[in-house]
Amino acid sequence: MTLHHNLIAGEWVGSNGVENINPSNTNEIVGLYATASADDAKTAIAAAKAAFPAWSRSGILERHAILKKTADEILARKDELGKLLAREEGKTLPEAIGETIRAAQIFDFFAGEALRLAGEVLPSVRPNIGVEITREPIGVIGIITPWNFPIAIPAWKIAPALCYGNTVVFKPAELVPGCSWAIVDILHRAGLPKGVLNLVMGKGSVVGQAMLDSPDLAGITFTGSTGTGKRVASASIEHNRKFQLEMGGKNPMVVLDDADLTVAVESAANSGFFSTGQRCTASSRLIVTEGIHDKFVAALTEKLKTLVVDDALKAGTHIGPVVDERQLATDTDYIAIGKQEGAKLAFGGETIQRDNPGFYLQPTLFTEATNQMRISREEIFGPVASVIRVKDYEEALATANDTPFGLSAGIATTSLKHATHFKRNSEAGMVMVNLPTAGVDFHVPFGGRKASSFGSREQGKYAAEFFTVVKTAYTLA
Ligand code: NDP
Repeated sequence: MTLHHNLIAGEWVGSNGVENINPSNTNEIVGLYATASADDAKTAIAAAKAAFPAWSRSGILERHAILKKTADEILARKDELGKLLAREEGKTLPEAIGETIRAAQIFDFFAGEALRLAGEVLPSVRPNIGVEITREPIGVIGIITPWNFPIAIPAWKIAPALCYGNTVVFKPAELVPGCSWAIVDILHRAGLPKGVLNLVMGKGSVVGQAMLDSPDLAGITFTGSTGTGKRVASASIEHNRKFQLEMGGKNPMVVLDDADLTVAVESAANSGFFSTGQRCTASSRLIVTEGIHDKFVAALTEKLKTLVVDDALKAGTHIGPVVDERQLATDTDYIAIGKQEGAKLAFGGETIQRDNPGFYLQPTLFTEATNQMRISREEIFGPVASVIRVKDYEEALATANDTPFGLSAGIATTSLKHATHFKRNSEAGMVMVNLPTAGVDFHVPFGGRKASSFGSREQGKYAAEFFTVVKTAYTLA
């Protein structure tokens, strides 16, 4: 089987390979991917540092052309790359192709942003002096990504980093190196100079840690768990570097008595269970007022009965497998915890067998949960959601905000008054009205509050905040 190498200083290098396993069929090896060492990470950082002066001064047309070419190739290969994504991560083929298209759109957006770099010119408060405010790249950026969006998250970090003139050392999650390798290969062939983008696949505890320990990274952008995020933060403070963290969620979806039942059920089913619930924006707390509670639970349970859990590539599959054995164990442990805590298992809760050996789990719904239970406070990151019954809107809002997290929050209501109040008073970075909590656009800011995020927003033009530093220059006329 061909070994997919790391890219360091413009050369494909590495010998030790790790097997990338398909969670829909654990007998199938998706590919063999090189493992970098801590020394490889240091070499990659040195290469990126050496490449920075020239790339930071490169022409905007060169950056535009490389990012545009990358977008075009990803789009042209969306079916093939989507299939690779579905095989390595386990989301369904339509979801995987959708994510691949989104990656292409992100590269396309930042290809455009490269041509729109602008500053400000202001008069000084002192006579005959002009003030220019410009944005400059910050230097070498370390990019560390999780397994649940194998192509979109690398895209939304790599594209702005390169657009604004930074160089990059990129470490994808060890579980899903395939899509990351593919986009680095595309960018490399699109004409990036040596050392501008380096790929170091391998273990977080080795390669990721070597990145955290390096004094030569000017910034680290990280998406993953809260625990690893805290390590990124403390190491970055130690080295006086910029950092940006996107971490977990325990996202509420409020359903009020006046909700359109179909909208509420479709939103809850989509954001609670699609992509196997493995989205940081998934709704895992369904906060439902008394008047609609029983109707909502009955309709959602009926909907869950219709969802097919099977091989990610099979036509008709709604929910693919859990990503690996460890995550499946986490999910089933939390299902056991929910039962012990006294929540009622209304649907699912069992692992299932399919034609191929894989990590299949039924969509699982708890009812009669309280907001104090561990299943309501801790992120499970699987197809598991709990219904919490509340009296009225005021209790629903208070319950929605009573969480350590603050990424996304939703409300299903036909009341303009409650929708408006919820948008203003939700303590989440993103608020959805009559929509799933998951599913966001690529051209607008993405991010949360509290334990979900730290630092400036990702995506859209707001990405410039992290990937550039502002310079203020005064000139005597
Ligand atoms: P982890 O934090 O375990 O891993 C994220 C990345 O960090 C991986 O590349 C991992 O490498 C790396 N890493 C692990 N240890 C270290 C270390 N000591 N130093 C540097 N890097 C390290 O999270 P998961 O990949 O398991 O992703 C799941 C989590 O991510 C969930 O909690 C989820 O909510 C969150 N997430 C948040 C999102 C958001 O935008 N808010 C989006 C997507 C996910 P390795 O693969 O080798 O372990």
